[in-house]
Amino acid sequence: MLEGTTAEIRERKALRINPAKTCQPIGAMYAALGIHKCMPHSHGSQGCCAYHRSQLTRHHKEPVAATTSSFTEGASVFGGMANLKTALNNIFTIYEPDIVAVHTTCLSEVIGDDIPMIIKKSAEDGIIPEGKTVIHTNTPSFAGSHITGFSGQCAAFVKYLAESTGETKNVVNIFPGWVEPADMREIKRLAELVGVEYILAPDTSDVLDSPHDGKYHMYPDGGTTVAQLKAMGDSFLSIALGPLASTAAATELEKKCKVPNKVLELPIGVKATDEFVNALRLAGDTAVPASLEKERGRLIDMISDMSQYMHNLKVAIFGDPDHLTSMVSFLVEMGAKPMIVVTGTPGKKWEGKLKEICSETNPEAEVLAFSDIHYMHQWIKNNPVDLIMGNTYGKYVARTEKLPFVRFGFPILDRVGHRAFPMLGYNGGMRIIEKITDALFDQRDREDPDHEVELVL
Ligand code: SF4
Repeated sequence: MLEGTTAEIRERKALRINPAKTCQPIGAMYAALGIHKCMPHSHGSQGCCAYHRSQLTRHHKEPVAATTSSFTEGASVFGGMANLKTALNNIFTIYEPDIVAVHTTCLSEVIGDDIPMIIKKSAEDGIIPEGKTVIHTNTPSFAGSHITGFSGQCAAFVKYLAESTGETKNVVNIFPGWVEPADMREIKRLAELVGVEYILAPDTSDVLDSPHDGKYHMYPDGGTTVAQLKAMGDSFLSIALGPLASTAAATELEKKCKVPNKVLELPIGVKATDEFVNALRLAGDTAVPASLEKERGRLIDMISDMSQYMHNLKVAIFGDPDHLTSMVSFLVEMGAKPMIVVTGTPGKKWEGKLKEICSETNPEAEVLAFSDIHYMHQWIKNNPVDLIMGNTYGKYVARTEKLPFVRFGFPILDRVGHRAFPMLGYNGGMRIIEKITDALFDQRDREDPDHEVELVL
């Protein structure tokens, strides 16, 4: 029943089956959760908000608080201004956030609600209490993906809040891109090891992986504060990790407060982590500590130990553009062959970049933006691979084709390690190798004929 497809590939222009993406508001909601005492608000019907919250909750195994304008037929016809004003009144009265981050949905975009005007009107009518803030981003889901929603929300933090006092501080802004809370913690650890003062925004560590203490906290301890978002305008540099997710915010800050920026790939694997560590070192005018050099050395050692298994390993991989760029580069570093690379987010430029990365090991690699997992499945039936990498939705393909499967990206609904252990940095690289080789070895242990089963593979 789960086999899903034959090997026959038919041209599809207007249909995606099992798309390798989800909708923009999820990204906006995730970014907003990385701000301390921020309530993400979904301006649309309850169904959208329920879906977005449930995906984030299932991925992070944490309760995700978010509010909705609860559109009914009336709002669909007359516009959502009354609903949003009522919602803001309720939110500030009942939940007492410092900031509300409003994002739109398909419905409110089609209606054409003017959110900045509604926010202004709410402020004039005294609905937004003194000292509290409401910001917004537009996230229609008939365009882009959850990554562009995340990017838009990060840019909105800057647009609404960053201020320049004229006094430049010895602080570096870091826009982390869409990564796990554990990855955000790893970014902070690396910055601290190199000795750089930083503001990380957003920061979902200690929000979506907060420790269990027996109590419910609507606003856990973590998250970038509104004061920190304001102070970003006084930093001397921004490092934007993940071009698609973070460039918009960094560019906005440069435009608004003249803070220059450096856009880097997500620090996954040796080269990308080196570039991030080097950028931190240059920014802080410091030296890379010996402990970090040792971490790097341990990763290189593991790569060489496992090279016989990674060499020429044929991989089918899907996910989000920034994740794929760095993960595919890391696979190439290790001698593997990414054979097909698929994302659901649109991006012709990204396709060119990925082809360039794969050209080192296999110029024939198929790279597709705005595609789907169904196509990747059909492609695999025609071009067998050794391994599949991607989010939870790839497990049906892996099961049908009896292939080892390594989960990474968003969403991962059926495992827990992604939220606890980073994939970023040198230590994260070792974890990726562990996951890949475990998946390969587990399959051999399970499926090799009796006379070929080896204790040591
Ligand atoms: S695609 Fe549009 S309608 Fe569907 S959940 Fe996302 S925002 Fe709501």
